[in-house]
Amino acid sequence: MRFSGWRVLKEGLTGNKGWTGHWRDPEPKREYDVVIIGGGGHGLATAYYLAKEHGITNIAVLEKGYLGGGNVGRNTTIVRANYYLPGNSEFYSHSMHLWEGLEQDLNYNAMMSQRGLMMIYHNDGQRDAMVRRGNAIINQGDDAELLDIEGVRQRAPFLNFDDNRFPVMGALLHRRGGTARHDAVAWGFARGADMRGVDLIQNCEVTGIDVENGKVRGVQTSRGVIRAKKVALAAAGRSGQVAAMAGLRLPIESHVLQAFVTEGLKPIINHVIAFAESHMYISQSDKGGLVFGSYLDFYNSYAARGNLPMVEHTMESIMAMVPALGKARLLRSWGGIMDMTPDGSPIIDHSGIEGLYLNCGWCYGGFKATPGSGNAYAHLIATDRPHGAATKFKLDRFRSGYGLMDEEGTGAQHNLH
Ligand SMILES: Cc1cc2nc3c(=O)[nH]c(=O)nc-3n(C[C@H](O)[C@H](O)[C@H](O)COP(=O)(O)OP(=O)(O)OC[C@H]3O[C@@H](n4cnc5c(N)ncnc54)[C@H](O)[C@@H]3O)c2cc1C
Repeated sequence: MRFSGWRVLKEGLTGNKGWTGHWRDPEPKREYDVVIIGGGGHGLATAYYLAKEHGITNIAVLEKGYLGGGNVGRNTTIVRANYYLPGNSEFYSHSMHLWEGLEQDLNYNAMMSQRGLMMIYHNDGQRDAMVRRGNAIINQGDDAELLDIEGVRQRAPFLNFDDNRFPVMGALLHRRGGTARHDAVAWGFARGADMRGVDLIQNCEVTGIDVENGKVRGVQTSRGVIRAKKVALAAAGRSGQVAAMAGLRLPIESHVLQAFVTEGLKPIINHVIAFAESHMYISQSDKGGLVFGSYLDFYNSYAARGNLPMVEHTMESIMAMVPALGKARLLRSWGGIMDMTPDGSPIIDHSGIEGLYLNCGWCYGGFKATPGSGNAYAHLIATDRPHGAATKFKLDRFRSGYGLMDEEGTGAQHNLH
C-alpha cells in the first residue's frame, strides 16, 4: 500500500475502509539467511537496508516485546550531525543525509523537522570548544554557526540569560539539526522491511545463541529454535546480556536515561536547545509538550525507569535556564536502558565468532544514528566489510586502546558520560 495525498482523499471519501495493516504477523520459519535480534530502530533499519540495498530478504527480526517498544519509542527524538571527532563526524553526517531523504525513501511520514539545534555555551572555555567543534563540523561538510548572546536572545527570548552559575553567552547553531517522530521512524522501517519480505516476529525473545566450532548456527527463542547463517545483534540496552549468550563479554554498562514531557502548550520553543552545563536539553513536540532531559542515572540498571536524584537535578537545571517552565504541568516521565561504552561511541563490527555481528554501544545518542547505523550494519553483514562511514566503530579499540573516540572529553570511563 502506497501512501499519498490522493490516497488520503480517496479513503476519506469512501469511509476509510481500504487501509491495511502496516506489516504482517508471520509465524517464524525454521531457518533464515539472517536473524536480527532486536526490533528497535537499528534492527528494523538494518533489515530494511539489507533487503533494499543488498537484495537479502530471507530475514527475521526477532523482538521480545512489540516493535518500537524499546528506546526507539522512548527517546527525545533529537537528530543532528554535529559531532567533533573523526569517526563519529563522518558517520553522523552519513546518517543525516539518509534522514534528509528518509520520508521519500520509506514513503512514510516520519515528521522530520529540521528546526535547528542550539548548543548553548556558558563560559569562554566552552565557547572555544564550540568554535573548534564548529570548524570540524564545517570541514566535514555539515553546517555550524557561532551565535553571540543576541543571536540566542532573538531565537529564544524566554531563556534566563543572567543565571549566576550558568550565564548564557552564546550558542553553536546547527540549522539542519532537529527532531523526527520516533515511533513513526520505527514503523516506517518496519513497513519498508515487511514490504520487501522480511519477517517481523514480535513476542519472540532470544534466550540463547548457538555457536559450533566458532561459527554461529542460529538462536534459541521463546518460540522455538531458529537456524540462521548470520545472526546480528541489535538489542541496545540489553546488548551485554544478549552477547553473553554467545560467551562474549562486551565493554558495555547499562544505565537508565530519563526524560520528561509537560502538558501540550502553544508553540513557544522553535529550536532544540541543549546546554553545555548539566547536559540538559529541551524542545517542543508537535503536540505541544515540552520535552526535556539531562544526565544518565549513574548506577547500572536494567530497569526502564529512573530514580529521584536525577529527577531533582533535571528539574533544578531546567528551572534555572527556562524559569517559565515552572508554570507548565508535568505530564509524564519515563526511562530507557542505555548501552554505554567507555568512550561514548558505538560498535558496528564482527564479533570474533563467524557469522555473528555486533551493533551496540549507542549510549544516549542512537536515535539520530538509526538510518546510518542500519545502513552501515547491513553493509557489514552483507559484504563482511565495514561501511566507509563506520570504519572506526571497532570492538578491538577497547582492548588495544588504539582508536578510542572520546567525544565528550570525559575520559574512557562509563560513569562520566
Ligand atoms: C530518555 C531517552 C532519551 C533519548 N534521547 C535521544 C535523542 O534525543 N537523540 C538520540 O539520538 N538518541 C536518544 N536516545 C538514545 C536512543 O533512543 C537509543 O540509542 C536507540 O534508540 C537505541 O537503538 P534501538 O532503537 O535499536 O533500541 P531499542 O528500541 O531499545 O531496540 C532494541 C530492542 O531489542 C529488544 N531485545 C532486547 N533483548 C532481546 C532479546 N533477548 N530477544 C529479542 N529482542 C530483544 C528490545 O525489546 C528492544 O525492542 C534516548 C534514549 C532515551 C532512553
